[in-house]
Amino acid sequence: MQQENAVHGIHHVTALAGDPQRNLDFYVDGLGLRLVKRSVNQDDPATYHLFYADAEGTPGTDLTFFPQRGMAPGRPGVGQVGEVPLAIPAGALEWWRDRLVARGVWHAEETTRFGERTLAFRDPDGLPLALVEIDEERRFAPWAGSPVPAERQIRGVHAVRIRVADAGPTVRLLEETMGFDSVGEDAGWRRWVAGDGSGAYVDLAEDPDTPPGRWGSGAVHHVAWRVRQDEEQDALREAIVRAGLRPTQPIDRFWFRSVYFREPGGTLFELATDGPGFDRDERPEALGESLVLPPWLEEHRERIEAALPALEVPASG
Ligand code: ZN
Repeated sequence: MQQENAVHGIHHVTALAGDPQRNLDFYVDGLGLRLVKRSVNQDDPATYHLFYADAEGTPGTDLTFFPQRGMAPGRPGVGQVGEVPLAIPAGALEWWRDRLVARGVWHAEETTRFGERTLAFRDPDGLPLALVEIDEERRFAPWAGSPVPAERQIRGVHAVRIRVADAGPTVRLLEETMGFDSVGEDAGWRRWVAGDGSGAYVDLAEDPDTPPGRWGSGAVHHVAWRVRQDEEQDALREAIVRAGLRPTQPIDRFWFRSVYFREPGGTLFELATDGPGFDRDERPEALGESLVLPPWLEEHRERIEAALPALEVPASG
């Protein structure tokens, strides 16, 4: 039974990358995701913000990037999301392994974590990813334009894996403030869930000897957790304040509303509302086709477009 104040799984994960075209080619042509939104970093409009997801941008399927040519690499360490496992249907792992090998993607040996078949690999900027077979059905809209057949398409973000120097304060936040339940331990990692299974896991490992990670290409910037609407976000924000942390005021991101805070272990967390959603300013069939800006940046469109490199969405398979 979930607490009154509780998140409902992962909303999206945002990472940093180098060349935007290489990033786009990998996630759309390689992993078969749909570019559902082509926008700019609202805090730095000279940088793209690219959103990859299922056909509709269903919350929980969304991986987003701030790609910038020449960005220095990040440094892996504690206090950041160190790997983003993605869910695939049971039985699809061999097909995916062959696809990644054929495309020259570095991949680790297959492993089993928490009883789940897992294939770990990296994106072209070195961001650690994994494909994890799941048995359960997830809310997911197949993308007809994907080079990956619908029955093998990525179902969304499965979990986030975070290393912290001292797990205690992070665990208290997860359990007492954010509504996570402890569900097990495997090979030095402990797992919590907020909501239903795949798409709602956080895995934590305690690692007192590694220095903090640093942002840069190939590093995760933040993980956003789902809240249903503004009222739920306000209540959770208050609980986070009572827990002694310092969340931002709610920020209107146009497609959803966001609150950011650092969890005690150092990782940047966001609370993001499920709506209004990505179809607020584009027809569902046209998602991602053109640069969209929130209304308050629209007056600067000409200058913003001139500063951004050209992008070509790979032809569908
Ligand atoms: Zn975010």
